[in-house]
Formats: sequence, C-alpha cells, structure tokens
Amino acid sequence: MAVFKPENVEEFYEIGEVLGSGHFAQVRKVHERATGTYWAGKFLKIRKNACSRLGLDRSRLEEEVDILHAIQHPNIITLKDVFESRAEVVLVLELVTGGELFDFIAEKENLLESEAIEFMEQILKGLGFMHSKNIVHFDLKPENIMLSDRVAPHPNIKLIDFGLAHRFHQGEEYRSSSGTPQYIAPEVIASDPLSTAADMWSIGVITFILLSGLSPFQGDTDDETLRNIIVMNYEFAAQYFSMTSSMAKDFIQKLLVKDPSERMTAEECLLHPWIKPITRTQVAKRNRSSINMKSFKKFNARRKWKMSYNMVWMCNRLVRLNLLCKGRSEADPLERQCESDVEDGESKPASLLRRRLSSSS
Ligand code: ATP
Repeated sequence: MAVFKPENVEEFYEIGEVLGSGHFAQVRKVHERATGTYWAGKFLKIRKNACSRLGLDRSRLEEEVDILHAIQHPNIITLKDVFESRAEVVLVLELVTGGELFDFIAEKENLLESEAIEFMEQILKGLGFMHSKNIVHFDLKPENIMLSDRVAPHPNIKLIDFGLAHRFHQGEEYRSSSGTPQYIAPEVIASDPLSTAADMWSIGVITFILLSGLSPFQGDTDDETLRNIIVMNYEFAAQYFSMTSSMAKDFIQKLLVKDPSERMTAEECLLHPWIKPITRTQVAKRNRSSINMKSFKKFNARRKWKMSYNMVWMCNRLVRLNLLCKGRSEADPLERQCESDVEDGESKPASLLRRRLSSSS
C-alpha cells in the first residue's frame, strides 16, 4: 500500500514553473531542497465529498500511485514521493525534459521508418512490461508519450499519465468507458470486459498516425469517430501511405482488429518483422520507407491547436464556475459544502471528471 506523506510538500521541495496541465492535474517543476535535484510535481485535487463533481476520488489516486510503484521500467515514468494535504495530492515524479515524442518528430525534415521504429520499440517494451504485470494504461495517446531528453543521440521514451490505468486481478471482469475517442478500442465503446488488448488497439492508431499523419477513425464529431471505430471504417489511403512499407501496414492491420483476443500483444509486436526484421530484404524495406512528414506535421499542428483550445475552454469554465459559486450566499448547508464543485447547466462533465469520452479528441 502506497504511503501518502502528510507533510507539506513545500517543506521538501521548492515549487517552480508550470510544465503542463491536464484535465485533472497541474504539473510543475519542483526543486528538492535536500539534494538540489529537479523533479516534476503533479498536483491533483481530491474530491471533497460525495456530491463534489470536481477532483478525483482518493481511491483512484491510490490506484495510480500503486500502479506507478509496481512498474519501474526505463520507458515508464518513475514515482519518487507522494504528499497529501486536505485538498490535494502531489505526486513527485521523475522530470521529463524532452517534450512529447510527436513534437520532437514534427520538428524533423524527414524520418525513416527504421528511425520511427526505434521509438515504437521502446513504447512496446514499456507496455509489454506493464502488461506482464497485468497493468493496462487505457489512455495511450501522443500526449502521454514523452522523451526523457531530446538532445541525446537516441532519446529515451517515457510513458506518462497513469490516471486511467488499471491493475487486473485474477479472474476480474473490468469495464470502463474512459479514454480519448480517437484512440479507444471498440470493446471500450461496447462496454465489454477489457484487457491489455485495449492498449494494443491504441498502439495501432498511434502507429497509423505516425506513418501517415492521418487519424484512422477521426470523424467531424466524437460520435462519428466512435461510430467509425465500431464499424472499423478505416483504410490505407494511397496518397497518405505512398511512402509506407507493406510490413508497416501489416503491423497496423494486426493491431486494428476488432476481436481483442486476435490482436497482437506487445510481446508479439516486438517480434513482428517490421520491428525485428529477420531478412536483409526486410531491413532494406524499412530503410527505404519513410513517414509522411508533410501530413504528419499538419496533424501535429492541429493536435496542438486543439489541446490549447481545450485548455482555454476549460479555464474559462472554471473561472465562470468560481464566479457562479461566489454569487451564491444562501445555499442550504449541504449545497454549500458542494458549492465550489458544482457545474452549471450547460456543463460538459466529461471534461472535468475522470471520464474522458468526448473530452479531448
Ligand atoms: P490528462 O488530461 O491527459 O488526463 P492529467 O491531468 O492526468 O492529463 P498528465 O497527463 O499526467 O495530467 O500531465 C499533464 C501534462 O504535464 C503532460 O501533458 C506533460 O506536458 C506534463 N507532464 C506530466 N508529467 C510530466 C513529467 N514527469 N515531467 C515533465 N512534464 C510532465
């Protein structure tokens, strides 16, 4: 069982600049007073009471912390410490300074498939390790794949954000409707029992985007995206995949499989000839093929724009929410207890609760 230290985090760490924000957390650079080392502090609000709609359940945070303790691997973010106060929990994490993998790639002029594969291999190794411990991430997407240091000759992948992750117990049936529409597996949408295969679907989607700059199931609305996933409406459009090897397409096809039990596992992916070529011809094919950089750059620019739009939308909502709550003075006692958490009528709870369908596609 993870230990949540009751001391004030600021006694041990000086709090610095904001590194990033998500739906549930603000992440800041922190400076350990005793050693001078820099870390990332992930500040998460705890749900105050049962009627609160903002913040996370403590039990959910306990699961995130337990999972992080269980998966120490070079390609997975490391958890150092956990602090808890009345209103928030602070996870002290290894500091990742290389930014998101997709941003790193988008800055390049071109990238061979063989170079992209170096990153895919690391992602799969981290994932394979998690899956061997019956832990599933359930929120794999470009924002959660970072690089520890972008100036290194072979930058190291770090998987982050285990806020939706789940550890399966023997014989357990687990269902969840959380995730980000573009990347979620059909069994999530169908509310079927889930497994490690759900992450492998997301790997299929991420690889598809990485190679073509096209998101395979993206519709104009989240509903349309989800419908495209259910009916498996995707294709390797020639104009986007003209530079892609047949091995890469085969790799994707073996992941974007509707039946989770038929999907490649992370271990199997690592042995697929696209990742681990055996013949000289296979090696040559990978070195001749490259990612569709023009289209990829466009995809990444749109993705970044949507992320900042979502963030501004969320900030505006929080400001309005605050004003709304301050305006209420005579609420009944229970309502007052909850008032700082109440959302207004036109709210989109999906953006504020840890249920992410339709929140950030
Ligand atoms: P989401 O909305 O995707 O659920 P979240 O609220 O769970 O996000 P994270 O995804 O863990 O929060 O972190 C938010 C952002 O903070 C990340 O996208 C990243 O930019 C930054 N970040 C997170 N962890 C680290 C880290 N260890 N080092 C540096 N930056 C980090």
